[in-house]
Amino acid sequence: MKYFSTKDKSSAVSFAEALFCGLAKDGGLFVPQAIPEYSSAVKSSLATMSFLDVAFETIKPYVEGEIPDGVLQEIVASAYTFSAPLVHVKSETSKDRYVLELFHGPTAAFKDFGARFMARAFAYLRRGETRTLKILVATSGDTGGAVADGFFGVEGISVTVLYPKGRVSPLQERQIAGLGGNISAIAVDGSFDDCQALVKAAFKNEELKKRLDLSSANSINIARLIPQTIYYSAASGKKPGLCFSVPSGNFGNLTAGLYAQKMGAPISKFIAATNINKTFPEYLESGKYEEKKSVATISNAMDVGAPSNFERMKSHFSLEQMRSNILSTFITDDETRLCIKKVYAQSGYILDPHGAVGFCAADRYLNDLGNTPIAVLATAASAKFRETVEPLIGCKIPLPQSLEAAMKREVNASLIKADLNELCAML
Ligand SMILES: *Cc1c(COP(=O)(O)O)cnc(C)c1O
Repeated sequence: MKYFSTKDKSSAVSFAEALFCGLAKDGGLFVPQAIPEYSSAVKSSLATMSFLDVAFETIKPYVEGEIPDGVLQEIVASAYTFSAPLVHVKSETSKDRYVLELFHGPTAAFKDFGARFMARAFAYLRRGETRTLKILVATSGDTGGAVADGFFGVEGISVTVLYPKGRVSPLQERQIAGLGGNISAIAVDGSFDDCQALVKAAFKNEELKKRLDLSSANSINIARLIPQTIYYSAASGKKPGLCFSVPSGNFGNLTAGLYAQKMGAPISKFIAATNINKTFPEYLESGKYEEKKSVATISNAMDVGAPSNFERMKSHFSLEQMRSNILSTFITDDETRLCIKKVYAQSGYILDPHGAVGFCAADRYLNDLGNTPIAVLATAASAKFRETVEPLIGCKIPLPQSLEAAMKREVNASLIKADLNELCAML
């Protein structure tokens, strides 16, 4: 498969190049030349295939000629030691409602699916290199944990995560700065924007470029997006005709769903659910795309005013195509809280604030969707957001084993000012 930049359809690069570069030189995002289609044999057996087989068949066309089948099989087997169960949730109406749980990976959020594949793809495609690859990543919380965990122990790669000191949760700090080994953490005396600016400046620094093989692992990397198509195909294979409600921020997850549908997975529709950061629902409504400053909410991993994957969606689909395939609405914090309470009261199911945005949005379209079964993507475990959720449901949420283990880690981070010289000295 060849990849284009969204800004220039004339020069194509390999999967490896798209992976290593992250962002194209012209500032565009990499997209596949054409979204591949499942063979009819695969389509007709999605219902009975194992999660790992779906993973293999889904990723294969995107890396053909670069990662051999046997290696890809090993990569998915070691990356996906957990799966994505489709859980039935009772509701007041008789309608079928499902939650697709994407939080059974080591950091209890769906970003594990992308990060774990990406780390292994990097390791394979760099085989034989003598220099260690240095991955530099800035995080506001969740991404850093998933990337740190995904790359932990991967040979030939070291990772440095920059996070804003005092502005991530105690659990997130332990996920980022508690692993050690090939993962180092730098707490920056400043904001997330300062961290991101430092990473950008480091990539432009000539002295560093000479001294280190630098790469990034941020969410615009195509290697994080492709593996997110797997769970859409696996779930709709089991339950053809599903409509997916996707809690969205940068719209990587939704874009992956659109890829799965284009590949031939039996998906009927999508609901793009946002919090008050409503750039995309407004775009579908008015036809005008207007980026905004982000506003803080209780579903903070979705606080994005300028969704980076919009450019990818636009390069594949027209406004009319998006309008006919995607419903989109925004949910306020009050509505999110009410939804967590209501679903718990009706079914005992505990949603996290992000999943609740998806659930509440799905409620809004129940009539329009008739008998279409709906699956809400639960992008994080509720235990990750105990401070918000426990007061709403009036009871304690037990920590999953992986998070309990993370909480016991010791934080080991270097502290720096938001200053490029200090960062260079650390690397
Ligand atoms: C990153 C994240 C999202 C948003 O996903 P996008 O692909 O950026 O739209 C939603 N929920 C959680 C828990 C996340 O960590």
